[in-house]
Amino acid sequence: MKFAQLLLKNGSVTGIPKQVERFSKFSPSPLSMKQFIDFGSANACEKTSFVFLRQELPVRLANIMKEIDFLPDKLLSTPSLKLLTSWYSQSLLELVDFLEKDPDDKDVLTNFTQTLVNIRNRHNNVVPTMAQGVVEYKEAFGVDPVTNQNVQYFLDRFYMSRISTRMLMNQHNAYETSKMLCEQYYLTSPDMEITEVNSKNPGQPLHIVYVPSHLYHMLFELFKNAMRATVETHETNPALPLIKVRVSLGTEDLTIKMSDRGGGVPLRKIERLFSYMYSTAPSPVHVDNSRNAPLAGFGYGLPISRLYAKYFQGDLQLYSMEGYGTSAVIYLKALSSESVERLPVFNKSALRHYQASTEADDWCMPSKDPKKLGKYERTQL
Ligand code: ATP
Ligand code: MG
Repeated sequence: MKFAQLLLKNGSVTGIPKQVERFSKFSPSPLSMKQFIDFGSANACEKTSFVFLRQELPVRLANIMKEIDFLPDKLLSTPSLKLLTSWYSQSLLELVDFLEKDPDDKDVLTNFTQTLVNIRNRHNNVVPTMAQGVVEYKEAFGVDPVTNQNVQYFLDRFYMSRISTRMLMNQHNAYETSKMLCEQYYLTSPDMEITEVNSKNPGQPLHIVYVPSHLYHMLFELFKNAMRATVETHETNPALPLIKVRVSLGTEDLTIKMSDRGGGVPLRKIERLFSYMYSTAPSPVHVDNSRNAPLAGFGYGLPISRLYAKYFQGDLQLYSMEGYGTSAVIYLKALSSESVERLPVFNKSALRHYQASTEADDWCMPSKDPKKLGKYERTQL
């Protein structure tokens, strides 16, 4: 009952554990892109949306709050995590308040809309705050493989849950913004070349239904990474190699491939680039509330972008040739009826992930770092 402890300390809010128990018993209901569009269309009914959201939002919040409870105590007791859990508790209570209200009352609907705006603003800094908590924990206590695995599992689900609640509450010029950031840092930036292929209707412009802010987020993160790699690998080269983007629409997928010549990454390291605890950029010292985002820092760009892609049943993968460059590929569903939300649900299988211990690997492992192995062998000889 960590929430209970937290709230007793705060002294103000009560009834949270009960509400978390109550709503986490329900599974979240995934919506398809088509349903989102219908909700947002001109003949959408505010009342129907209200009745759905006042139940669905608490269910999604409570499911993820159950998982927050399973984080290591030392992580939960960091100031960042305390702040973050208080936001979740507060928002859950505000939503639950509407359960008894009359959907036919216009004032209720107006208040609900205002509450959603407040909640969205309250949760604006969830990602950097969670990241800060994880950094504090990592620096104070180090990270063992089990914790790393649990935190990775949790953060994927936690951020996915956040994307989904914000999507519910909310209803491309990524290159330009990233270019601006890149020029601020490096005083130069690579150009871009974009090619489109429409296999469905050759020669026609590409058209799919997607959430512009999600696409923006993914492309922006990929551009920042590609630009940083390109500029840092070609420091002495006055003409930077282009970043090439190819977009292709098929019957099932819309695929976007971004290729840079930023020196690439060895295969051994690819998986770790998606870890929330890995970045080769110096970590940003502390988070302030300004909108001044660093070009790189927390190591969150790739894992969060992959979640955005997976959220509507797509994916994001990296293919790299060490010594040359990297291609990042975003896969999206071409049809809106196939873009269905992917949501975490708290149940026995999820619980098992937090209780898992490391088992012995059933494959023989060579030493982790080839360079260290070399040294070791030499000293042995
Ligand atoms: P931020 O959270 O600000 O994005 P970051 O860029 O370090 O920080 P990621 O975007 O997740 O985090 O990338 C993780 C690491 O992967 C980077 O630090 C970099 O070392 C490596 N990386 C990512 N993209 C490329 C690329 N196109 N070429 C070479 N290395 C890359
Ligand atoms: Mg990045």
